[in-house]
Amino acid sequence: MNRFVITGARVFDGENSLGVVDVEVADGRIASVGGSRPAGVDLVDGSGATLLPGLIDAHTHTDAESLRQALTFGVTTEFDMLSMPEQMIPLRRRAATSNDLADVRSPSIGLTPAGGHPHQLRKGEGDPQWPTANRPEEVAAFVEGRIAEGADYLKVLVEDGQLFGSDALPRLSPELVEATVRESHRRGKMVLAHAMTVETVEQVVDAGVDGLTHLFADRPHTAELIEKIAAANTFVIPTLTVLASITGEPVGRQLAEDWRVYPKLTPEWRENLSGMMATSSREKFGYALETLRALKEAGVDLLVGTDAAHLGAPGMAHGASLHGELKLLTQAGFTPTEALRAATSVPAQRFGLTDRGRIRPGLRADLLMSTGDPTVSIGDTLSIRHVWRNGTYCAAAAINASKPEA
Ligand SMILES: [Zn+2]
Repeated sequence: MNRFVITGARVFDGENSLGVVDVEVADGRIASVGGSRPAGVDLVDGSGATLLPGLIDAHTHTDAESLRQALTFGVTTEFDMLSMPEQMIPLRRRAATSNDLADVRSPSIGLTPAGGHPHQLRKGEGDPQWPTANRPEEVAAFVEGRIAEGADYLKVLVEDGQLFGSDALPRLSPELVEATVRESHRRGKMVLAHAMTVETVEQVVDAGVDGLTHLFADRPHTAELIEKIAAANTFVIPTLTVLASITGEPVGRQLAEDWRVYPKLTPEWRENLSGMMATSSREKFGYALETLRALKEAGVDLLVGTDAAHLGAPGMAHGASLHGELKLLTQAGFTPTEALRAATSVPAQRFGLTDRGRIRPGLRADLLMSTGDPTVSIGDTLSIRHVWRNGTYCAAAAINASKPEA
C-alpha cells in the first residue's frame, strides 16, 4: 500500500530535535525513524525542511469546513470545547476516517446554567435547548447524557460574561462543578473548565477539574493560585489568541496579511481573522502574559489552543491561528521547542491520545513538513511544504509553497 521514506529533513519528534534522519511511513503509520532505507521505496525530499508531528489545537469550536481548513495548516487534530451534539457527534465519526479533515474530539455541550455563558454569544446559531443541571443530584444524569452522546470529556463553564461585554449572567455554582468532577471521574472522563477570573479558577481547581480552557485575566495572578494549579497538576490551555481578540490586540490581522496564510482562507475567513472582539481592556492581555510566565515557571503543563470558532467570532481562523499562538507563546518566553511540545506531545499525553503527538514507530503518520527550522525560528512552522494525515498526502496544504511575486 502507501509506503514512502522522507529523507534529508531535520526531525522534531514532539519532544526533541533528532537532527537529519529518515522517517519511513507505511499504511498510515510511522514504520521507522532513522532506520535503514528499504530498496525500491518512494522517497520524499525534505532537504532544507523540518518534519514535525501533526499539530494539535486544544481549544476550538468546529465543523467540517473548519477541520478541512485546519488540515491545510498542518493541524491534524482539534479538541472541540463545546458544540451541538446533533452536528458534532456525526462529524466526530466522519473525521475519524476522512483523511481530508483534521481529526476531532469533543465534550458535546457543556454544563452551564440556563441563560448562562455562552448562550449570549450563540444567539442566532439556531441551537436547540440544551440540558443542564440545577442541583448536584441532577449532575449524574447530565454526565451520563453526554457520555451516551459520545462525549470524549466533560466541560463546565463558570463565567458571568463580563469579559465578553455582557451584563452579569447566571454563573455555575462550585457545588455543581464538584459534582461534575465526581460523576465524570467515576466514569473515567476528564473535566475541563472555562473560568477566566482569579476567583472562579480557584473554585474549579479546588473542585478537581483536570484542565483550564483559558488563562484567567481579570487581574494579576497571586502566587498562591499558581502554586495551587501546579500542586493539583491541572493543565492550562492559555488561548492567547482569543485573549488578544478580547482585549483588542491586532494579532489576527497580522496573521491574515501573511502571504503563507491568506491564499488558504476564503474572503470571509480572512475578514474574520482580521477582526477582533475588543470587549475588554488592553491591560488584561498583560495580566495574561504575566500569569502564563508564572505557570510555566511553576512547571504547569501548557497546551496550545486558539478558541478558533465559527465565522462571527473575530480574531481567529482554524489552522492559521495555531501558528499565531505558537508565536505568541515564544513572545511570552517559551523557547520554540517548548512551544512545539505544547502543540504536539503534551496535548496528546494529557488527553490520553497515545497514537499521536510524536514521531515514533507505530504512531499515526500525522506529519507536517515546514521549510526552515521552527525549533530555532518559530515563524517557520507556517512555511508549510507538505502535510500528511494518517500517511495520506494533503494536496491543499501546499497551495502557498512559494512566495508570490510582489
Ligand atoms: Zn471556546
